[in-house]
Amino acid sequence: MPRVLAVSNQKGGVGKTTTAINLGTALAAVGETVLIIDMDPQGNASTGLGVPRSARTTTIYDVIVDQQPIGECAVKTSVPGLYIIPSDPDLSGVEIELGQADRRSYRLRDALEHQAQVGELAYSYVLIDCPPSLNLLTINAMSAADAVLVPLQCEFFALEGLSQLMRTIDLVKGSLNPRLELQGIVLTMFDRRNALSGHVARDVRSHFGEKVYDTVIPRNVRVSEAPSFGKPALIYDLKCTGSQAYLKLAREVVQREKVRRAAA
Ligand code: ADP
Ligand code: MG
Repeated sequence: MPRVLAVSNQKGGVGKTTTAINLGTALAAVGETVLIIDMDPQGNASTGLGVPRSARTTTIYDVIVDQQPIGECAVKTSVPGLYIIPSDPDLSGVEIELGQADRRSYRLRDALEHQAQVGELAYSYVLIDCPPSLNLLTINAMSAADAVLVPLQCEFFALEGLSQLMRTIDLVKGSLNPRLELQGIVLTMFDRRNALSGHVARDVRSHFGEKVYDTVIPRNVRVSEAPSFGKPALIYDLKCTGSQAYLKLAREVVQREKVRRAAA
């Protein structure tokens, strides 16, 4: 089975999509087989990975609502080893469409348990790019996930939002998915010229200790430019500080996985 990570934070604009795309690309670059699932109706991960609206024939909507197999909905990206299930604007109506449907919170989990491979090759990581809310889509993501990966922007209200997210994780763990854990917190858009960035980073580390990745993602204009070319930053400009940070993060994630597996 793959390691399934929900990239989640109910706050918008904190770097969820950027992290899903670039960590996914970096994991593929170090030899993993990666599936990104775009669970946000806005479809930014799909666009950022070069899958235009017109090419989104089968989407995560088909998986969640019509229970189509993962294998029929995943498409190749330009990055070897990296696949994506694109999003669909209709996803925003899923809550109403599923009504009280059977196993409505487990649609994604059921699909992943049924099939988590591409051809003969099994995915080693599945990254779910969550929407900026705690709705049925996020619940599906957290019910399917082994762990939650939280991108956190170092700004004034960061810790406040984080405690709400931790309560949600506990809630899901206590009801829908007992195995759910916090994978880690990654500090994003870090600006070393801004004193507040440093203060918040220190606060977060003192609260969450080793759960915070050593790697910090710097604010880097190349990272923000890349999606408009339909490319991950690592393809757009491998040498930029942002791309290098995501490569470092991927190595850290893989290393922590090794340690976790050895302890399990
Ligand atoms: P979310 O998915 O949480 O809403 P995004 O990943 O879309 O957040 O990021 C929000 C905005 O910040 C986007 O315009 C993105 O390009 C930009 N951004 C994200 N990470 C960085 C970074 N490391 N450096 C510069 N801009 C970034
Ligand atoms: Mg997003």
